[in-house]
Amino acid sequence: MNHPAHVPPRFKGPPGQVDMPYLMTPGPLTTSRGVKSAMLADYGSRDSEFIQMVAEIRRELLRLAGCDESYECVIVQGSGTFAIEAALGSLAPAKRKKTLVLANGQYGDRAANILTALNRPLIKLDRGDSQSPTISGLETALDSDADISHVWMVHCETTSGIVNPIEELAKIAKGRNKIVMLDSMSAFGALPLDMVADGIDVMVSSSNKCIEGVPGFSYVILKRELLEAAEGKSHSVVLDLFQQWKGLQNNGQFRFTPPTHAIVAFRQALRELDAEGGIAMRRARYQRNASELITRMRAMGFTPLLKDEDAGPIIQTFLTPRDPKFDFEVFYEALRVRGFAIYPGKLTKRPSFRIGTIGQIDEQVVRAFARAVEEVLTDMDVREFAPIEI
Ligand SMILES: *Cc1c(COP(=O)(O)O)cnc(C)c1O
Repeated sequence: MNHPAHVPPRFKGPPGQVDMPYLMTPGPLTTSRGVKSAMLADYGSRDSEFIQMVAEIRRELLRLAGCDESYECVIVQGSGTFAIEAALGSLAPAKRKKTLVLANGQYGDRAANILTALNRPLIKLDRGDSQSPTISGLETALDSDADISHVWMVHCETTSGIVNPIEELAKIAKGRNKIVMLDSMSAFGALPLDMVADGIDVMVSSSNKCIEGVPGFSYVILKRELLEAAEGKSHSVVLDLFQQWKGLQNNGQFRFTPPTHAIVAFRQALRELDAEGGIAMRRARYQRNASELITRMRAMGFTPLLKDEDAGPIIQTFLTPRDPKFDFEVFYEALRVRGFAIYPGKLTKRPSFRIGTIGQIDEQVVRAFARAVEEVLTDMDVREFAPIEI
């Protein structure tokens, strides 16, 4: 058969990414050539090499999350929200007891919406979209309702980029014997996590965030005893964590077609994380990206949403300038043709846009990005950078 040897470039981008734009977004994100190349292989779902790969990934994720023998890792097909719904549907109480959701953005809201859709009792403690949940707020909520048995929190709230004080919050919840569940989707792999030391019972993340794999699956890391107790609890067949785990335990296979290419890519991504020096070194690189970006954007006149000490290294939110010549769609498209894809804002009240500082990018890429922003602003003739008043 006659196949083309490669896919022709669809784009002319900047150095290092000449055939496609850099994704300055929080996932999907820019992956390495090694991760992309790993996908040039077909594996069958029963292939012993593939089964070993899945086992290796599950072990490595447990190690990275600081787990001991009492934890399990269950991979779920689909994007991050699939694992969130799988975890909530399998673990959140259905009656008498309640789940407390600590929300400060879109992702906390989403967990609460899932609980509502599944008819699971919940209380939402809402902090808007640019402030972290507080220790005293959590204490008051827990002490005023004895029926709360589970607490759901978000590590980095990708809506604003804020990093929540999950160690302190988990300590308060654990001190009152609650089950602590963490959405570490956009943080795991970049921010350190020690599930045993921090008393985190359940953690959810996905393939296409800070481990720098491609989209295709998500995973739940949790206490084995919770998983065992989840038998028969899920509202769903495909999202039944217990059954998914049983499938993986019995013969190492997925119950339904596995995302084989995403799995191979992820194994390569884990090896590259290790080669980079692990989570601490990755965090340091992302932090350099974030600092460089904030410095350059401030120098141009932009206002970051968060104070520097609240803004994590994952994604940065900037308030939209009030200059009527600043049109986000034009700005977005002009940056994209220069090789950089950015992200619209999702704040409920203030117009904003976001720039991811994760993935296969470094300070040099951030500097090239900043130069592209300067060019685009000159072309657009934007002069008034004070944020739009609300
Ligand atoms: C990306 C993300 C999710 C999952 O989103 P999907 O679009 O389903 O992958 C959940 N929570 C947070 C904090 C995220 O950043």
